[in-house]
Amino acid sequence: MRIIGQNLPEHTFKTWFGPVVPLSIYNNVLTIQVPSPFYYEWIEENYADILRKAIDHEIGVEGKLEYSVVVDKGDANSLPKTMTVPNNKIELDLKGKEQNTLSSDLQKHKQKIIKEYEAFFRDIQFNENYTFDNFIEGECNRLARSAGLAVAKKPGVTAFNPLMLYGSVGLGKTHLVQAIANHVRFNSPEKIVVYISSEKFVNRFMEEIISKSGNIQKLTNFYLQIDVLIIDDVQFLGGKEKTQDMFFHIFNHLHQKGKQIIMTSDRPPRDLKGLEDRLLSRFKWGLTADLQQPDFETRVAIIQKKLQNEGISISYDVIDYLAHTIDTNIRELEGVIVSMLARSNLERREIDLKLAKETVGHIVQKVDDRRPESADVDIDHIQGVVCKYFGISEEEIKGKTRTKNIALARQIAMYLCKEYTELSLKAIGFHFGGRDHSTVIHAIQTISEQREIDSTIRNDVATLMKILSKD
Ligand code: ADP
Ligand code: MG
Repeated sequence: MRIIGQNLPEHTFKTWFGPVVPLSIYNNVLTIQVPSPFYYEWIEENYADILRKAIDHEIGVEGKLEYSVVVDKGDANSLPKTMTVPNNKIELDLKGKEQNTLSSDLQKHKQKIIKEYEAFFRDIQFNENYTFDNFIEGECNRLARSAGLAVAKKPGVTAFNPLMLYGSVGLGKTHLVQAIANHVRFNSPEKIVVYISSEKFVNRFMEEIISKSGNIQKLTNFYLQIDVLIIDDVQFLGGKEKTQDMFFHIFNHLHQKGKQIIMTSDRPPRDLKGLEDRLLSRFKWGLTADLQQPDFETRVAIIQKKLQNEGISISYDVIDYLAHTIDTNIRELEGVIVSMLARSNLERREIDLKLAKETVGHIVQKVDDRRPESADVDIDHIQGVVCKYFGISEEEIKGKTRTKNIALARQIAMYLCKEYTELSLKAIGFHFGGRDHSTVIHAIQTISEQREIDSTIRNDVATLMKILSKD
């Protein structure tokens, strides 16, 4: 232990070797107890060299190491179950056999994948409170919810494979698919469930592709071991051909093995832009269900549920008012409730109609005076003007051609969209053939720089700005 300690930073030593108990040295074999298969994996993988050094020093080169792995802590009265594993060997020692080797095998396998998952995706947004229980059912989501529940109960076994849920923002797609994940994790702990946004899915592949030490195979293999794969917001795969290739491969493999695939999208599959036909046709193999805007009764039920969760009851006229006023999406509805509660708390006011009206006035524009959606018009207009100026077609500006002239026009158009609209980078990218927001950033940076150093581009941009400011 002393030798190991000298070779590692203190916190690392504490984390990984603090819980390790040296059990015995017998016949040149040192046995150490580790608290879980995960520790065994981790120590073997990362600190085998240091352990070897320590053993060489203490026992000599003949020395061997065995791990006694606690696989089941049991209850307080029974002794922990363990299995013994020699180092540098993945197969389990037979000594552990009578102690349910299969399940510890599985557990070990699962731990390994979870470890990979954590290493690959450090910041997954996952909410354990998204359950079926607090997902209110209504006409708007009945099919999606019951298909989701069926899949959660028997992943991979129903005809709903893949399950594709679509609907516009804030209608509960993420809640529903995470409810499936939570349900499976709870009821079938042996199953490996992975939830990931398609943006993350794409970015991870890109990182491996770009990085010198990237390992696409390893990442792909990771996906191939999953029992339930959930990909949220697949519309972001649009135009990402390389990633789609990977996804196609993973999809086929998992589907063939009877593993469950679940996807969400903000639009029906037929409207997914930039997705290969072979992928789209796969999506149709299972079930496609949509989530619609909740009707009045469902909105009331949702508000009541949220308040109930907070342990608060308010008069029906307030609920009625909220349900009437906020009819767009559930996220907005939640936002209003949360800030209403916050105000009531801070200002020590009762939750009444007056407070509800003030809160709504602060955060949403009411149904009657909501602005018409003008963003699409603006961006179309900018694209039109730029195309005309450069003598190219709108297909070209949204397309993939990298011809110098077209690429420049495209970048300038993106730059102008940033200047003239309030669209997010993501949205701008979307309107340019489903490009990534990083492409938009790059375009904006390039044009800002070029405007300083290249007089032709400076003139182009100035002229276009004049045209755009005129209308
Ligand atoms: P999406 O992924 O479709 O944009 P989310 O799943 O993020 O939408 O839902 C937005 C918010 O609305 C979440 O906080 C979610 O819990 C809530 N929500 C959506 N649908 C329901 C529902 N049927 N019952 C209760 N809460 C819901
Ligand atoms: Mg979502």
